[in-house]
Amino acid sequence: MSKIRFQALAQSAKRKPVEVIEDTKRSALFGENVFNENTMRQYLTKDAYKGVMSAIEHGTKIDRKIADQVSSSMKEWAMSKGVTHYTHWFQPLTGGTAEKHDAFFETIGNGMAIEKFGGDQLVQQEPDASSFPNGGIRNTFEARGYTAWDPTSPAFIYGTTLSIPTIFVAYTGEALDYKTPLLRALTAVDDASTAVCKYFDKNVKKVTASLGWEQEYFLIDKSLANSRPDIILTGRTLLGHSPAKGQQLDDHYFGSIPSRALNYMRDLETECMLVGIPVKTRHNEVAPNQFELAPIYEECNLAVDHNSLLMDMMGKVASRHQLKVLLHEKPFAGVNGSGKHNNWSLSTDTGINLLAPGKTPMSNLQFLTFFINTIKAVHDNEELVRAAVASANNDHRLGANEAPPAIISVFIGEQLTKVLEELEGVTKGKLSPEEKTDLKLNVVGKIPDVLLDNTDRNRTSPFAFTGNKFEFRAVGSFANCANPMTVLNTIVAKQLKDFKIEVDALIENKDLKKDEAIFNVLREYIKATKNILFEGNGYGDAWEKEAKRRGLSNHKTTPEALKARVSKKSIALFEEMNVMSKVETEARYEIEVEEYTKRIQIESRVIGDIAGNHIVPTAVRYQNMLIKNVTGLKEIFGKDFEKHAAEQVKLIKLISDHIAAIHSKIDKMIDVRKKANIMEDAEEKAAAYCDEVKPFFDEIRYHCDKLELMVDDEIWPLTKYRELLFIR
Ligand code: ADP
Ligand code: MG
Repeated sequence: MSKIRFQALAQSAKRKPVEVIEDTKRSALFGENVFNENTMRQYLTKDAYKGVMSAIEHGTKIDRKIADQVSSSMKEWAMSKGVTHYTHWFQPLTGGTAEKHDAFFETIGNGMAIEKFGGDQLVQQEPDASSFPNGGIRNTFEARGYTAWDPTSPAFIYGTTLSIPTIFVAYTGEALDYKTPLLRALTAVDDASTAVCKYFDKNVKKVTASLGWEQEYFLIDKSLANSRPDIILTGRTLLGHSPAKGQQLDDHYFGSIPSRALNYMRDLETECMLVGIPVKTRHNEVAPNQFELAPIYEECNLAVDHNSLLMDMMGKVASRHQLKVLLHEKPFAGVNGSGKHNNWSLSTDTGINLLAPGKTPMSNLQFLTFFINTIKAVHDNEELVRAAVASANNDHRLGANEAPPAIISVFIGEQLTKVLEELEGVTKGKLSPEEKTDLKLNVVGKIPDVLLDNTDRNRTSPFAFTGNKFEFRAVGSFANCANPMTVLNTIVAKQLKDFKIEVDALIENKDLKKDEAIFNVLREYIKATKNILFEGNGYGDAWEKEAKRRGLSNHKTTPEALKARVSKKSIALFEEMNVMSKVETEARYEIEVEEYTKRIQIESRVIGDIAGNHIVPTAVRYQNMLIKNVTGLKEIFGKDFEKHAAEQVKLIKLISDHIAAIHSKIDKMIDVRKKANIMEDAEEKAAAYCDEVKPFFDEIRYHCDKLELMVDDEIWPLTKYRELLFIR
């Protein structure tokens, strides 16, 4: 066995189990390290508390005097918990999180020092923006950027650092992060939904979007992971033959959780409790070594922050357990990859979930209004929705019959399909009293009952209604949820805004009653959006054909899918809803296109290196062993040797063929890569990487994986799938 592989396996076998001490009452730990409402009540003056709460609830500005009070209380609280540093914590367009720690410590002259944290430091900081992706915003405007406190997401302590969630913007105001457009989209959906809610209840003053994500991930032994250069550099295995046993027995899904993984989960969950992430569910996923973690849903912005924080914490906690977390969407060929379902809904400050059927016909009409408008929003913007989940990694899953296809459709279940069919038959214009009564009693009034037995769940749909929420299932495991959530909330906001205009016009111009007008507009929406509804098997070829006939997009690669982000329509949409300016939309597009190119470029280099410098030399070594063997046989058996050496000679030839193929394909890949690298146009370059460079990966892999089956296991350099995939 190669030295590196042997050492990795030996180290893994030697590791000591980590003792996990767990509090039986998790609620006692929950939010312990969060500067939440409770803590604020204890630490803040009445005025400061009111100031922050009003900023959270109504978006009012916090004045400097109050900021000073808040910062000094935060410092006092944090220091009582052993904290020495603070950081503005933000989510730049790399997709990860960023932090730069500063000590509270400050000198005051005469060799003396104090601990200080003023309002100014809480409210705004100026990290050097120049090394974060900015998509040309830096060139067009100024290099400088600043981070600004987001009081709607509470500060928390992680380790010995007080972390303050912030937005990150250029000095000229353009967003350089994920949070800024998300907050704007949440404001847009709040405004538009609240206006529509007033048709049903004048008391509604605020509508909040909620998000419950389900994080899938792989856990593998750290020393084994570190023995694979592809995992270290790209987060996935670029080579590796499938193990004899993978997921075919379906024995992992919901199976008993291996104790090593369970220990890790318990430890991680404790950390989550402390920083206020309400994790609740854990289970084995479909693939070996694949797991899922899900919290109780929260307000969307907070849920996004919590998911970003979680992804960071997952890696840190894993390290303690000698494990490595793989958040990549497709770490292993031949077994399922990982996604992150985004469960989404809207609810009012009067306590109503707008996507849950209610108890009265009127509340159900409200439900149908939001339900149908969401479908219409997805229908009108299916390409933008697809673009929101596009990434080099996610391309491996979408459409690979393990995750939803690259075609966006909406699943609503048989019962609601029937309800929509009945609504479609509503008379145009004024309704007779009989029809109104019939609608209220027999269609709208029946919804709660029918939903209860609406148990069919179509797992192949990218966007499914699941009783009281929509579940957006095409999101990748590594993605920052802010991107899909910004798009979803923006398109729904725009749709609701248009809906209100149409309904108001019917009331005013056609003298319709409010509910008549609503029925009329909804009826037209149902007619117009049929193409997006699909209840069948999303994995089949039949659906691809049918979707094409319906005119739905089917962008299988990221460069193709991303284009919808900068269509005239998308730019206008984001501008109209005050979510992103044209400059911001275009900058993001540029960043995503470039990120795609870079990821494929890195993978291409790594696969070339491993195949050329690890696999081929190993194959040559083995071939030499065979040649020596054949020569020996010749010495012993003379002319007769062929009878005894036939298989060896065959192998020697096969190995030569594979080596030749690998070399020629690496050479060709390098050629097309060189051509791509000198392309000036970012879109063209990404397309070249996608269509010219990437296809070589599978071809090179094919030959390497064949060699893995031939070459003596003792000298094979890469830790094998069977060793990586089964945690012991
Ligand atoms: P599964 O789809 O795997 O069966 P669950 O039904 O348990 O999962 O729900 C998954 C996620 O949906 C959880 O995070 C849960 O909190 C979330 N969820 C439930 N209701 C809502 C809602 N109204 N808004 C957003 N997320 C929700
Ligand atoms: Mg789910």
